[in-house]
Amino acid sequence: MELPFVVLLVVLGIVAVGGTFLVLRRRSVGQLGGVPSAAAFREEGLGAKVRSAIGRGAEPDAWQRMEDVLVRADVGPKAAADLVARVRSRFGTGQDPAALLREEIVAVLGGDEALHLPTGRLGVVLVVGVNGSGKTTTIGKLARALAGDGKRVSIAASDTFRAAAGEQLQAWADRAGAHLVAQQRGADPGAVAFDAVRSAVARGSDVLIVDTAGRLHTKQPLMDELAKVRRVIEKAGAQVDETLLVMDAQTGQNGVAQARAFTEAVEVTGVVLTKADGTARGGIVLAVREELGAPIRFTGVGEGPDDLRPFRAESFAERLMEDS
Ligand code: GDP
Repeated sequence: MELPFVVLLVVLGIVAVGGTFLVLRRRSVGQLGGVPSAAAFREEGLGAKVRSAIGRGAEPDAWQRMEDVLVRADVGPKAAADLVARVRSRFGTGQDPAALLREEIVAVLGGDEALHLPTGRLGVVLVVGVNGSGKTTTIGKLARALAGDGKRVSIAASDTFRAAAGEQLQAWADRAGAHLVAQQRGADPGAVAFDAVRSAVARGSDVLIVDTAGRLHTKQPLMDELAKVRRVIEKAGAQVDETLLVMDAQTGQNGVAQARAFTEAVEVTGVVLTKADGTARGGIVLAVREELGAPIRFTGVGEGPDDLRPFRAESFAERLMEDS
């Protein structure tokens, strides 16, 4: 055998052995106890991560590791601490911490609630949230879903400030077969809401969905405006039955902080978590539930007219725990 060929064989051998060693080492870092590596974190569901954090022993460190796993999954610090305390108080030898966690997630999220809308009088749904969160799209999808249930739907374009808000809503209203009440840009949002209640009652509508402004940089005036719209609706002879807060799931913990400003100003009865189709970090659902104190009613799973789903705690918890 010639010398250069032998050298080549030796080099190839070294590369193969070294490569195998590196691959095995990376795997073991991801799989052994402790918080999984970033790569492993993406591949495993919450169930596998929690099992490897707790291991067999459940020594005090293990519970801290489980809390870290939950925080990394976007669950939020408050909900993470609460869930760990719940699982820890129930954990015994031979039990599966992931199964306990799944049950506690369902308990935290509460029962699945439909919208509470009256029969025999006009039901009013106020929709609030920051611009860009998906408010207009959600109103369109909701109008369509309610119309699909046989309800007559009206929409009030009370975000009179934003350019093209009226046109966008008109397109969604047409798609849903709903009636839109709008005025010129810059009109008083309360006046639009007043007109909309009167016209919805006159037309015999079952539900009025009220769009509102979402300019967060003018926080105090915005919150005053929302309170005023609510008062005007009552003055027009109706009452607000549901106040839905629309929140973009992809804004994570920042979105939760923004959304909190709304829950402080208006009595939010439910949350619609939009863009849930694009996020792998489903833990945000728990952060929203615990930190805003309002149930998740729907998730938005796309831009199309039928991409609104009632939220189901059981199936959500199951999916969150599964490996991807
Ligand atoms: P608004 O400013 O709060 O009224 O937000 P829009 O309804 O105009 O939505 C902002 C953008 O988010 C638009 O491009 C929508 O198509 C998109 N969007 C809204 N909801 C969803 C959703 O559930 N999934 C996805 N992928 N996109 C959404």
